[in-house]
Amino acid sequence: MARKERERLIARLREHGFKLTPQRQAIIELLEERGHYSAEDIYKRLQQDYPMLSRATVYNTLEVLKELGEVAELKIKPNIVLYDPETEPHYHFFCRRCGKVVDVEPLPECDPEELPARLTAGPLRGYKIEGMEVYIYGLCPRCRRPSSRMASSGEGI
Ligand code: ZN
Ligand code: MN
Repeated sequence: MARKERERLIARLREHGFKLTPQRQAIIELLEERGHYSAEDIYKRLQQDYPMLSRATVYNTLEVLKELGEVAELKIKPNIVLYDPETEPHYHFFCRRCGKVVDVEPLPECDPEELPARLTAGPLRGYKIEGMEVYIYGLCPRCRRPSSRMASSGEGI
């Protein structure tokens, strides 16, 4: 996230009476740097630098960001919610072996901005679409390589 964008977000949080403590600021910065973290990932990564950080702070900061529409929830991993600072519609790929989640640049013919309107003009006529997630899953190039498969499962040399 660009600096200007961060300043806008911070101003918006202050407007909503959200006190920006160093811990909360660190959570926001971590999320901006790379999305798709879970609350637990965030907690673990920041624990060392912020020993006073509690899980409750992580959870309620994420909750506020979600309510303000500044992060989107991804439910691509079973039983784990990931947070994405990119709230514009986009697709995700999930590698079921290494757990990596990557953004997928949509092809022009399946632009997620246009898809809801195209669906309500066709197979979902009469329906109101309130959300849409496209999750693509399989193996990333690294995990497809036989050698890395053995190494990652502990069977390698
Ligand atoms: Zn992988
Ligand atoms: Mn994403």
